[in-house]
Amino acid sequence: MCTTCRLRPLRSISVKTGRLYYDDPYLLEFDATAVETRSVGGHFGVVLDKTAFYPTSGGQPNDLGTINDVPLIDCIEDEPTGALIHVLQDTIDAGPVHCRIDAGRRADHMQQHSGQHVLSQAFVELFDWPTVSFHLGAVNCTIDLAADGVSREQAEKAEDLANRVIRDNRGVFVRYVAEENIVEAGLRKATERAGKIRVIDIEGYDRSACGGTHVRTTGEIGGILITGLERAKKQTRVQFICGDRVIRYARMANHALEAISQTISAPPLESAAAVRNLWEEHQQLRKQIEQLESQLIDYEAAQFPVNNGLAVASFKNRGIDKLKMLASRICSRPGTIALLADEGDQLRVVFARSADSKVDVAALLKQTVERFGGRGGGRSNLAQGGGLTGSAAEVLQFAQDRCTGGSGM
Ligand SMILES: [Zn+2]
Repeated sequence: MCTTCRLRPLRSISVKTGRLYYDDPYLLEFDATAVETRSVGGHFGVVLDKTAFYPTSGGQPNDLGTINDVPLIDCIEDEPTGALIHVLQDTIDAGPVHCRIDAGRRADHMQQHSGQHVLSQAFVELFDWPTVSFHLGAVNCTIDLAADGVSREQAEKAEDLANRVIRDNRGVFVRYVAEENIVEAGLRKATERAGKIRVIDIEGYDRSACGGTHVRTTGEIGGILITGLERAKKQTRVQFICGDRVIRYARMANHALEAISQTISAPPLESAAAVRNLWEEHQQLRKQIEQLESQLIDYEAAQFPVNNGLAVASFKNRGIDKLKMLASRICSRPGTIALLADEGDQLRVVFARSADSKVDVAALLKQTVERFGGRGGGRSNLAQGGGLTGSAAEVLQFAQDRCTGGSGM
């Protein structure tokens, strides 16, 4: 007995795990024998003589559940040996084990994966666009089509056909075809698999080589909804959901629409147009406000007190852009220097001078930053700085002294 993992020494041979889910994806509880252990990234992994747990492969994520009540965190395939390694949260003893599969997760994956076969064939039947890859995500599923652009209308046609096939409640059969007979099987997509090939046959509609878990009849898929289209590198990624995910999505979308509808007092299905109108109105108002603010700053600049060619003032939370605008406009008056400060989340300053002035305000700012810290820069006629320490009064006095003292600028 191993003292660290409580495991009896196991046979050190690799086992080709029997896959119970191949022929019965509805089997959710089973007995097996733990025959081998392997460490997987520091976690305890166990190989069973047979299993109904699906390993991550073919775009479909692994099942979850328990082995002897210890939660499974992953199930991975060791391709060279065909062994499936069940990665567990804790160690278990070798010998007989009792396994339970997370039924909700398995049912969801069956709906998504069978739905994918139906949708992929719909794109082939209608537009001759093969699926080049499939991903079953926790929220969304995607297929990548060999199609350089798919319109919303084309996607909806495929969605309609897929949903008709679901309503037909066609049988979904698992067949095994010998490699030499695979061409006659009429697969949607050629396979590179050898030996006995597992084929998922949707009655009179689609045949695909696949190792995934599938529903018995298409009706169990429930429904398919395409939720997005994204074009990339001569392919189109189609985002979709099936079955219970469609209901959950519809419910959430409905809640969101209701909230928008109540906020803007428009019927839910007219909300998009109403929001668009509101947005345009908002943009127009923003422009008007900007124009009014600009006029106001013109007025303020024209009235701004200037003593001996210096306009000095400090503000609170005026914002750097407004401050720059004000400084520049004050300096439209000849012979003027503007030294403005703004106390907000940090102390900022803006120095500006009129076109006829010789003062280099960038140099003045450099001296000010050297004295009070912070950072900044600009041109000889307009410079700004931020993060200065000290009070606005101290900083402005310092800058003002440099201007009046003519200290090297
Ligand atoms: Zn498949």
